[in-house]
Amino acid sequence: MNCNEKSIIIIGAGIAGLAAGIYGQMNGYKTTIFEMNHVPGGLVTSWKRKGYTFDGAMDWFIGTGLNDRSSIVWRELGYLQDRKIDYYDELLHVRDRNGKLWTLYTDPSMLEDQLLQLTDDEEDKEKVKKLCKDIARFIEAAPLDFRKPQTLYEASDYMKFAEEYADCMDIFIEYNQLLVSDYADSFKDHRLREVMTYMFYEPESPHVPFVFIFQLASMYKKTAGYPQGGSLGVSNFLEARYKELGGNIQYRATVKKIITLDGVAKGIILENGTKHFADYVVSACDTRQVIYEMLEGKYVNDAIDKLYTEGVIHASVLKVYLGVDRDFKNEPDVAVHMLNEPLDIPGLNQKRPRTSLVLRHYCNLESSYAPPGKSVMESFFYSGYDYWGDLYNKDRELYKKEKERIASIVIDQIERIYPGTKEKIEVVDVVTPVTYQRYTGNHKGAIMGWMDDTTIVPDLMKQIGATLPGLNNFYMTGQWIVTGGMIRAASSGRYAIERICLKDGVEFKTI
Ligand SMILES: Cc1cc2nc3c(=O)[nH]c(=O)nc-3n(C[C@H](O)[C@H](O)[C@H](O)COP(=O)(O)OP(=O)(O)OC[C@H]3O[C@@H](n4cnc5c(N)ncnc54)[C@H](O)[C@@H]3O)c2cc1C
Repeated sequence: MNCNEKSIIIIGAGIAGLAAGIYGQMNGYKTTIFEMNHVPGGLVTSWKRKGYTFDGAMDWFIGTGLNDRSSIVWRELGYLQDRKIDYYDELLHVRDRNGKLWTLYTDPSMLEDQLLQLTDDEEDKEKVKKLCKDIARFIEAAPLDFRKPQTLYEASDYMKFAEEYADCMDIFIEYNQLLVSDYADSFKDHRLREVMTYMFYEPESPHVPFVFIFQLASMYKKTAGYPQGGSLGVSNFLEARYKELGGNIQYRATVKKIITLDGVAKGIILENGTKHFADYVVSACDTRQVIYEMLEGKYVNDAIDKLYTEGVIHASVLKVYLGVDRDFKNEPDVAVHMLNEPLDIPGLNQKRPRTSLVLRHYCNLESSYAPPGKSVMESFFYSGYDYWGDLYNKDRELYKKEKERIASIVIDQIERIYPGTKEKIEVVDVVTPVTYQRYTGNHKGAIMGWMDDTTIVPDLMKQIGATLPGLNNFYMTGQWIVTGGMIRAASSGRYAIERICLKDGVEFKTI
């Protein structure tokens, strides 16, 4: 380990903050993380209710290819070495209104067989074949290198990237230009159109089809999977590793201000008024509060103001968690169920009435999440913030009642899909965008930072980078700097410490 006298304050113990802390300690800095909650992880958390564990964020864990570069960041952080990772053969299932189950396999040839059964149209068939061929081509491409977040690429990084991925650049371009819903709508046969609508769970997904290709390819070649221990397993591991390296975390420590002097970040002031000083300050939480509240908007330029006024943020989620005295292990782990009637759920991120329900259970992935023979089941919806925010601010009792109403809508649908379940439900928990906002401080409860697909966001993010104009010894990390995902959050922490080492003339180490 290097040894230097300098210190770093990190704001937030989400994945970005914990990673920054670990890399900081590895490089001999004296680091302290200030976290407003009493547990690590931020969005990457789980909680217990009456013997059931509800997982907050673990769908796919990207960067698990033990023998390739996709996993370097996790291996440096020490996380992957002894971890059991489960890999899926399918991304999800779609149950149509006749009860038939369609499987979106990660194997492109199996996916092709499945999708071709959904159309008699020749043009559709050609399109399906092309999609599956493109997925197969992407499987052959080199795994992505997450050591440097793409939003922080410089011109030379882009040139290297373009050279390395020259053979599949057309895939990046073609499938990044439209939204999943528009892509799905371009199929002629209504059966195929409908199934493709759900290729990313949500009927009006804000994502581009490239995300689908990336996920399928990553799961197929085992560079993404499900790590045993789920969300809190990751966060607890990183916290333990950080402490083992000598790091110091202060919990229930909400940062209110960043202290600056002559254009240099000097420290922070906590909500309780105490001041803490360091040579560097690294933010690893919602950057809107960092830039406009903690720093009072003194270090901005046009690009920053434009991003924070016009940038489209990623949706939040509305989730219904259930603890059920019933075993679902023979049912699909995750499936979109098409419904015959629209759901009366306001505030969702869609224009059309919602006629589908996503259900996931953890019987096969994490049997410890429920007592033997029982199951954790969850249903989730991308949701805007405002409906829930208004309700919460106006009338807490109404807010609570609305959560109960949503839960009962979901439970009634589950009863139709799996008769006899309703009476076996032992625990119900509903989280809304307000929960995410309150718990993590993320603006409007956004679960992935900015919406970086097909919007003005990517260009502005690139212009801004990880620093602020006129402020030295200050770096920003996390999902608002590199967009969402655990691997990107972790690599943003790595990037900040690499920059600090560069500034100090210290060789960056990753032991
Ligand atoms: C439902 C859901 C599903 C997801 N699925 C996946 C997935 O399958 N795969 C994947 O890779 N990613 C997934 N994500 C996204 C991923 O979890 C996040 O993008 C990532 O964890 C963000 O990490 P972060 O450290 O940037 O931010 P956060 O997790 O938001 O951490 C910020 C931390 O800062 C703290 N903080 C905030 N304000 C202050 C303050 N003033 N003072 C002190 N502390 C403060 C917060 O309490 C928090 O701990 C999912 C997220 C959600 C919610």
